[in-house]
Amino acid sequence: MFSERKTLLAMAAVALWIAGCAHARDSIDLDSQRPGAVDRSAIAISTDFQSVVEAAHARYKDLRDGKNASYIPILSEVPSDLFGVVIVTREGDIHAAGDVDFEFSIQSVSKPFTAALVLTEQGPEALRDKIGVEATGLPFNSKLALAIHEDSRNPLVNAGAIAAVSLIQADSEAQRWEKIHANINHFAGRSLTVLEDVFASEYETAFGNRGIANLLYNWDRLYSDPEAALRVYTRQCSIGVNARDLAVMGATLANRGVNPLTGQEVMAAAHVPALLAVMATAGFYDESGMWMFTAGLPAKTGVGGGIVAVVPGQFSIAAFSPRLNEAGNSIRAMNAIRYIAAELGVGVFGASSN
Ligand code: GLN
Repeated sequence: MFSERKTLLAMAAVALWIAGCAHARDSIDLDSQRPGAVDRSAIAISTDFQSVVEAAHARYKDLRDGKNASYIPILSEVPSDLFGVVIVTREGDIHAAGDVDFEFSIQSVSKPFTAALVLTEQGPEALRDKIGVEATGLPFNSKLALAIHEDSRNPLVNAGAIAAVSLIQADSEAQRWEKIHANINHFAGRSLTVLEDVFASEYETAFGNRGIANLLYNWDRLYSDPEAALRVYTRQCSIGVNARDLAVMGATLANRGVNPLTGQEVMAAAHVPALLAVMATAGFYDESGMWMFTAGLPAKTGVGGGIVAVVPGQFSIAAFSPRLNEAGNSIRAMNAIRYIAAELGVGVFGASSN
């Protein structure tokens, strides 16, 4: 009896597997439909985004590894069980599962978008020469990385992000903040507000970042008053977003700089590849290699629990959940994005397996 049941179950599994293969064959290759697009017909890209988003959410919703960030005291109060997953396509279609409306602080996910503004205002040479585009291989707040080179290294660690803020051309701190805020709003396609309690909590405890800002200034690698740069940077990190906002921001990069919801060109298409390259090499700090090894997508994380990944020319995947690993990256969000990237076969170096 027992073995009979096993045989029946095995037969059912085979039938399901065959059905799954038929589904994969039916799926549409998005790239081959666009005139002049690279033929990627070898990679069957499923267009069933909604079910893959729901599957990723279901698969990792019970994962409770990791802890909320607590070095910014108020972040430890965010409900740890929140979990949202979203795909936004270059056409502006939104596929979501879970807690995608909850507002959390954007934190370091803001960094590539201000780097985009530096690219827009001053071009790739300024980003390369005044900040840097090399991975540090060290944590996001590393003072060692700073001291080795007397330099910020890249715009996605704290040092480079504070330097990026200071590079934005403005006559005053208020004007600099307005430009940075407006730019992030344009990427998100809506008006975002600062979570003032997060700003206060981080600014009151920002001794490490203050040290970084002062050292950079001392080495002529900060381009405004250090305390003002620290304040604007901390405000930028305290902007409230939901997971859907992050996905729209990523979809703007996927859509070569044009926000798919508003149609606004937020950055030049010609600057997008350089930005994605820095995200690929440094978006996860000292885990950037492992991220590309397993997920294969340019992406950016933040200690608020958000992550956004970009499938260039196609769509973005964002996820949010507050529990982080040692490197400050959301464990559920990483898993969800990695799973979706493998299911859809969209890693930039080719399809990999789950
Ligand atoms: N605002 C945070 C900090 O400066 C950002 C860090 C992060 O999200 N990795 O520490």
